[in-house]
Amino acid sequence: MKPIGPKLVLATHNKGKLEEIADLVARFGIEVVGAEEAGLPEPEETGVTFIDNAELKARQAADLSGLPALADDSGLCVEALNGDPGVRSARWAEDAEGNRDFFRAMEKVETALQALGDDVSRDAHFTCALSLAWPDGRTETFEGKVHGELVWPPRGDNGFGYDPMFVPTGHALTFGEMEPAKKHGMSHRADAFAQLLAWLDARQ
Ligand code: IMP
Repeated sequence: MKPIGPKLVLATHNKGKLEEIADLVARFGIEVVGAEEAGLPEPEETGVTFIDNAELKARQAADLSGLPALADDSGLCVEALNGDPGVRSARWAEDAEGNRDFFRAMEKVETALQALGDDVSRDAHFTCALSLAWPDGRTETFEGKVHGELVWPPRGDNGFGYDPMFVPTGHALTFGEMEPAKKHGMSHRADAFAQLLAWLDARQ
């Protein structure tokens, strides 16, 4: 039996993510329905790991909709900061009113690194956890990563979030300077999706 189909709920209110994922799974004959269309609330991300958060979002969406559901959670982990900002990557960008400014978030990372001295490691990685949950209680989770180094000052206007300060290993440009298609081919999200698609390929 096919593990999913014909419908899959994507537990995100982000239209860009919805379109990208709908494209990826179209070849399996799967129709993707967004969280808004399915009438789902935005869950609180209370987990302490990316996997916790992806699983709790996918589980809530599967339970409320009665359909298989897919959710993701991602962020930047800096080795010298013990993995911070990690699951709080979006929150590091917020001011007291909840407005997001990623230059501020990048400055916080840089200030925390500089406080550790000139010889501090600038190694970092992005992580993306992707979780598929079924109404019968089953869950499958995949985790993708991309490793690199942080630079200062930030460079490039492409991408989003922490992209302008992240140079993937083996490359000279930051994710903010790279062509989006190039970043999308090597990102933590691409890695997690490749694992999910290989899993589906073996079963659909
Ligand atoms: P979420 O998974 O949509 O909740 O994203 C969490 C946060 O992690 C984002 O707001 C960004 O700050 C950061 N982040 C996740 N993926 C990327 C990326 O590919 N580039 C830059 N920042 C990212």
